[in-house]
Amino acid sequence: MSVAESESLYDVVVIGSGPAGYTAGIYAARANFKTLIIAGVTPGGQLMLTGLVENFPGFPEGVQGPELMDNMRGQAENAGVEIIYDDAVEVDFNTYPRKVMTSDRVFQAKAVIIATGASPKWLGLEAEKRLLGRGVSSCATCDGPLFRGAKCAVVVGGGDSAMEYALFLANLVEKVVVVHRRDKLRASKIMQERALSNPKIEFAWNSLVVDVLGRERVEGVKIRNKLTGEERVIPCEALFVAIGHAPSTEIFRGKIDLDDEGYVKLHNGLETNVRGVFAAGDVHDKRYRQAITAAGFGCMAAMEAIRFIEEGWPEKLMEEQKARLKEQVSPPDRSSGRS
Ligand code: NAP
Repeated sequence: MSVAESESLYDVVVIGSGPAGYTAGIYAARANFKTLIIAGVTPGGQLMLTGLVENFPGFPEGVQGPELMDNMRGQAENAGVEIIYDDAVEVDFNTYPRKVMTSDRVFQAKAVIIATGASPKWLGLEAEKRLLGRGVSSCATCDGPLFRGAKCAVVVGGGDSAMEYALFLANLVEKVVVVHRRDKLRASKIMQERALSNPKIEFAWNSLVVDVLGRERVEGVKIRNKLTGEERVIPCEALFVAIGHAPSTEIFRGKIDLDDEGYVKLHNGLETNVRGVFAAGDVHDKRYRQAITAAGFGCMAAMEAIRFIEEGWPEKLMEEQKARLKEQVSPPDRSSGRS
């Protein structure tokens, strides 16, 4: 079967529907390449769990995360991208065209763009798992309103997410305690200033969450001071975990090169070690991790995928594959010593 004959063949298949995925889709489709986005069953990425986004250019008053993502989805559809709302569960990068599988379909692609982003990290406590959805959450903007009027909510972490959560919760509950493992915040200066100056937000410095208390619902959080070893319980109704994210690369393990933390390793621009497979956004970028940089990477990955196709690599890879298969069926006779 040649590339041209395959019906389920796309020029570009994008896996993931955050800013990187939608931007990649928009660029590929506008360049007239047959483009599919496998958006996942919960599309939109991390911005779906965010409130007001104030640093994405073009929105002087800010824009709600879910609204921004809905706009990107609409723009991708208008550009001619086909979108399916299912999870990619497997990939086959040993054959060409590359294959991406959902639970019931196989999609072939001349170029694949991995834009699966990252998902929240957890503390790893048994009680955290048990009380997930019963007071433990990784998304204050989604679950915070459930605790309106509560006496106290705890946020763990010292980055921008933790500050954003604390500020959001301060409007809903009587008191917020931020538990951070160091004595300095990692968050941007402006977010630090807002949180530190908010009278409803307290800080427990140099402290670790060691247990979450409560049988049916969160009733308190036990913390330990790293310097003194002292333990104390903060009575609270909710614990919001904001300790960063891990890349969503499980299905690519063993299929492309990943680093020790699971981020996609890039080899040639935004290309992975597999020809025709590119990566964009938080799945490879642990340095910037912004919506706007993810969108930028999506644009770059699409432009590289387009160039890859226009330079005739799909045909070359098909020829190479044919030759390899032929060789496997009838290995060349090397016994005569002739070359
Ligand atoms: P982050 O910047 O990686 O911060 C994670 C925080 O959690 C750090 O303070 C870290 O402590 C702490 N932490 C990590 N593992 C921990 C553990 N096992 N136990 C306790 N604490 C732990 O993650 P983020 O806040 O989610 O932000 C991610 C990116 O998104 C950043 O680039 C950020 O600027 C961006 N962002 C921006 C906004 C905004 O501009 N409004 C909002 C949210 C996120 P250490 O400091 O000791 O490492």
